[in-house]
Amino acid sequence: MNTDPLFDTTFLRQRIRTVPDWPSPGIQFRDITPLLQDPRAFRVLVEAFVLRYMAAEIDLVAGIDARGFILGSVVAHQLNRGFIPVRKKGKLPFTTVAEEYELEYGNATVEIHTDAVAAGQRVLLIDDLIATGGTMMAAARLLQRLDATVVEAAAIVDLPELGGSTLLKEAGLAVFTVCDFAGH
Ligand code: AMP
Repeated sequence: MNTDPLFDTTFLRQRIRTVPDWPSPGIQFRDITPLLQDPRAFRVLVEAFVLRYMAAEIDLVAGIDARGFILGSVVAHQLNRGFIPVRKKGKLPFTTVAEEYELEYGNATVEIHTDAVAAGQRVLLIDDLIATGGTMMAAARLLQRLDATVVEAAAIVDLPELGGSTLLKEAGLAVFTVCDFAGH
């Protein structure tokens, strides 16, 4: 969880809506759309990421399909870096590499274009939320398979009880999240 005094985590956290039992019973869906809808909150969110990475050595920002695209592309633009999409299976038109993984609810595959990164490039990876960490880990593996370096795996929300952020750290990735929520 972020502890940077430059921005107010509570202000952002309060704008994340919890929708119980969606998309399936037992899931507490953490909905970031109210945060994005509020122009001041959206700006504070983007600033948090820009302040954190403006002096970092980053070549590209990768966003994960689909909510990772929203924040990831804005952060990439603000940092004057290119944006690359990590997409769900079957969406990318050119040659791809793919990784299958387990979700909190089901299985999925993510893909990236084979020319999305060059060997040795440093990539900031962004999604909206880390639950079990499977999505972020699969995306990181894709980048690593193309010999890129993942500078940090960053998200708005961490669900620490699901163990994803710990798993990612144990795999050697740096992890940054703005706020966390207890439970699933
Ligand atoms: P995971 O791979 O288990 O870390 O799941 C993270 C991905 O699934 C992210 O792309 C999230 O958008 C989505 N996700 C999983 N669980 C939730 C949840 N409780 N609320 C909102 N999004 C979730």
